[in-house]
Amino acid sequence: MQAVVFTSEARVALADRPEPVAGDGEVLIKVGAVGICGTDLHAPVKPEMFTPGVVLGHEFAGTVARPAAGPLSDGQPVVVNPIALSCGRCQACRRGFTNQCLTALAGCSGVARDGGMAQFAVADQRSVHEIPENVALREAAWTEPLAVALRALGLGGVRAASTVAVLGAGAIGQLILQLALNAGAGETVVIEPSRLRRDVAVACGAAQAVSPAEVPRLDRAYDVVFDCTGAADAFAISLALVAPGGRVVVLGSYPSPISLGHVPAEASVVFSSVYRDDQEFAAALRLLARGLIDTRPLTTAIMPLPEYEKAFASLLDPEQAVKVFLDPVGQS
Ligand SMILES: [Zn+2]
Ligand SMILES: [Zn+2]
Repeated sequence: MQAVVFTSEARVALADRPEPVAGDGEVLIKVGAVGICGTDLHAPVKPEMFTPGVVLGHEFAGTVARPAAGPLSDGQPVVVNPIALSCGRCQACRRGFTNQCLTALAGCSGVARDGGMAQFAVADQRSVHEIPENVALREAAWTEPLAVALRALGLGGVRAASTVAVLGAGAIGQLILQLALNAGAGETVVIEPSRLRRDVAVACGAAQAVSPAEVPRLDRAYDVVFDCTGAADAFAISLALVAPGGRVVVLGSYPSPISLGHVPAEASVVFSSVYRDDQEFAAALRLLARGLIDTRPLTTAIMPLPEYEKAFASLLDPEQAVKVFLDPVGQS
């Protein structure tokens, strides 16, 4: 079968791989849709994160191709939580932060073990969620990034009438915007250099979307500011935008040191990291099943696996894409 792998020379490449065989407690999945994430895109600059030769793709949905003994039947649509295999014993697990469990991270699909950018993938049964009937595979593949957004929203404490600023309108920023609007957010602004991404945000309900150059013209401070840029210089902008007593939620970690600049009174900063646990992943899938998130305007393209180079390149240009999926078998 064909697979998009991260080679030992730290390159993303198409490779020929034998079809994987499901072991005890594992299921074989025919992959229908797999999202390309920033993690995949920037793999060449963070090669130490990946097992050399690993099949990429941690955001994937498909159908059960060969069920193991258990409740899953042949053809059942499923989506995989790539970091579900926590140990249950370490300090992180005992405190409920199974996403920080080193065992879970060491088993992450598409990073540490083979993921979904291939016609077939194998997953531990404990990491598999059944997809409700009304959710298409291409929609279910959004579950993982949506769980990331859901975690950040919870940490931000967005309530009815909260004013919200979102820095960076890639896939995660767009999902946070939709979740905030669902939670009843009041005034919303999206700050994003790409015109395409600003237009998508406005189409999804943002009250306004501006370029970073226009930030000084915003004449208000916001209760909750989400920094989804991954850029260290965005932190000062977040602090400039947050209201006294407000909260900045930073997604992921910054690649270089940050400087504080103006600090509003009693503002707090929280660093959000993936999602808390498997329940949060399940909650994201339920939101999709209830039709509460519109993934269509965020799904720029779904391309066949051999076109991975074009797909990756389009995501590197924010004027071209929000989110791109690969469809390895023409199933989604
Ligand atoms: Zn991801
Ligand atoms: Zn653990």
